Amino acid sequence: MKRYPFLDLSTVNARYSDALKEACSRVIDSGRYIGGSEVSGFESRLSKYVGSGYAVGVANGLDALRLILRAYIQLGCFKRGDEVIVPANTFIATVLAVTDSGLIPVFVDPDIATHNIDVASVAKAVTPRTCAVIAVHLYGLSAYSPELADYCRLHGLKLIEDSAQAIGAEASGLMCGHQGDAAAFSFYPTKNMGALGDGGIVTTDDAELADTVRILANYGSRSRYENIMEGLNSRLDPIQAAMLSVKLDHIDSENDGRRELAAIYNSTIDHNHVIKPVEPSGYRHVYHQYVIRTDNRERFRRYMADNGVETDIHYPVPPHRQPCYARYASVALPVAERLASEVVSLPISPACTSPADASEIADIINRYN
Ligand SMILES: *Cc1c(COP(=O)(O)O)cnc(C)c1O
Repeated sequence: MKRYPFLDLSTVNARYSDALKEACSRVIDSGRYIGGSEVSGFESRLSKYVGSGYAVGVANGLDALRLILRAYIQLGCFKRGDEVIVPANTFIATVLAVTDSGLIPVFVDPDIATHNIDVASVAKAVTPRTCAVIAVHLYGLSAYSPELADYCRLHGLKLIEDSAQAIGAEASGLMCGHQGDAAAFSFYPTKNMGALGDGGIVTTDDAELADTVRILANYGSRSRYENIMEGLNSRLDPIQAAMLSVKLDHIDSENDGRRELAAIYNSTIDHNHVIKPVEPSGYRHVYHQYVIRTDNRERFRRYMADNGVETDIHYPVPPHRQPCYARYASVALPVAERLASEVVSLPISPACTSPADASEIADIINRYN
């Protein structure tokens, strides 16, 4: 029986093997293993790509979010105990960044069709203590809307993007990473633009924020042995910056490949127990995941596995239901909980799934009964 793998990272990177090895050798020979031109060069190319004024490389996506929040506290925009609105159906990192900074997460249910928060859900959750909204561009679909941005501006809230899943995605002509006041990207190996290890970056048009993030990420120090803030060590490694410089050359064609597979699924899958994802007009979805919903998930996944198709779940347990957040377990979030029980991710990596594979997977789904 033919097998349809979900994702295989060696296959993903094999296509760029020569360029990655060359970039690796360049760093080894440079003698510069922290900071330097490899990192600053990647930062300036990445900021040009998303259209932001600044980009600051950091150790991972969680730190990118943490550093944005810490920097706003450092600058006096937020204070500990302030509330941050977060979608309830996100990956846990979004919430960990909030609580790690001494801020209070206020969970809101997403729109069931887009899986993203919208201005109506945000407006219902705002209190006098709200300082920010984290818009998670879940699965590669932007959560931005001009209405959400206007609402945040009018109410003095920072709009922070969790762009970990959305490099190259767009809404209303704006790139993810340039839709809010600041954005966090992750280069975790499974992301659309993955490093060969951990990596992340903060993008913003705010010079003061960028400067503060850079200082905080480097022991709170601008110049050696002068620590002006209580910082941490969270820098993007030159070796990962070199890997990512290779990947950045190909991100648009990688995302086009995902979109091509998604278009095949969208046009071919036709089943009354399967709800397909949406791409509202004016949005460019980059399908970090292609997520369908089905009412009897266990049975569906068993059927897919029996037919050689590997699937995954993003995410089976929402953050407020995790043991570490037992204090939020009683909050009523019916949409997030329903999504957690119904979502299934199909193979969508263009390195591992061909257009012919996608048609075959869609046909397998259509025969499900
Ligand atoms: C991957 C991810 C993160 C965290 O990124 P890391 O680089 O793994 O720390 C944060 N938010 C979302 C939505 C993610 O998918």
